[in-house]
Amino acid sequence: MKAVAVIPKQKDSAQVVDIDTPTISENEVLVKIKLVGLDGTDKEINGGLYGDAPEGEKLLIIGHESLGEVVKTGKSVRTVKSGDMVVATVRRPDDCINCQAGEYDMCLKGAYTERGIKGGHGYLSEYYAEDERFLVKVPKELGDLAVLLEPTSVAEKAIRMAYTAQKRVIWEPETALITGTGSLGLLTAILLRLRGLEVISVDRSDNEYKETIFSELGVTHFNAQKISLHDIPYEMGRQLDLIIEETGSSTVALHAMMIVGINGVVVLTSITGGDTRIQICADCFNQGLVLGNKAVVGSVNAHRKDFEQGITDLLAAEKQWPGLLAKLITGRYDPEEIQEALLSMKDNIKVVIEF
Ligand SMILES: [Zn+2]
Repeated sequence: MKAVAVIPKQKDSAQVVDIDTPTISENEVLVKIKLVGLDGTDKEINGGLYGDAPEGEKLLIIGHESLGEVVKTGKSVRTVKSGDMVVATVRRPDDCINCQAGEYDMCLKGAYTERGIKGGHGYLSEYYAEDERFLVKVPKELGDLAVLLEPTSVAEKAIRMAYTAQKRVIWEPETALITGTGSLGLLTAILLRLRGLEVISVDRSDNEYKETIFSELGVTHFNAQKISLHDIPYEMGRQLDLIIEETGSSTVALHAMMIVGINGVVVLTSITGGDTRIQICADCFNQGLVLGNKAVVGSVNAHRKDFEQGITDLLAAEKQWPGLLAKLITGRYDPEEIQEALLSMKDNIKVVIEF
């Protein structure tokens, strides 16, 4: 079968390869891939910065945002059947206490694997095999939009982390700021608007296409090249109760901790692999957090329950803003066009590979 694989740590090595179609054991399910979404991690893996092949192998099949159809099930599989549409989760557990309790997004030891990223093949192939425990059945009415479920689950977890942290205080959030308006930022904006929050977004550019999405959602957008982050609460005339940081910039993350309001919470989601150094007033920074009773939480990956909440919310979003989610999928490519597809990500919201 056809698959898209990289030689890990080798720049621009993603290409179509021919490999054996996987066989399934009695707990496993064979899934025929329909769509795979690309994100920054795939780009970094193709850039040679990241990614590990499964033990003893030379190639890593990439892609972790999947949507496929069940075509065959092992004899003890009970939760899905042929014809079901499924999305697979990404991380696979090790033996730590969190993983053993099904909380492998909160892995304590770090010996987990991640399909398409670290030590496990991804889903950019005609078929993949997986244990039924790691598959999430998606309603057919979502159609192609279900390919957005994996990134939605990451946004769901970030929001769940905020609300969980805020059980420390009587908290009735009114205003949220999202820094970064990539596909994750837009999905986060949708989820927070569904929860009834006033949402502000900020990034470093003006994009007419995104403006139409913001206006449909009722999101207020600022261009960070025209306004300082610190001026946003004054410009809006209200404090920021929640900030979800999704720019990929550690500098923006630090500023987010400074501008969040009293009793507020900042959720950090950016993976920042560099070594950026900046000068800050450490006393002011510390004092702001202490006197404001502020909380800062890091959030990565997602729990199975975040995928399940994601399904509920994608359905609700499609009902509230019909056609809006489809506007997020702006590029479609064939597997053979993988390099072109990865390159096109800078001008797109979400690029998908279609099998
Ligand atoms: Zn673990």
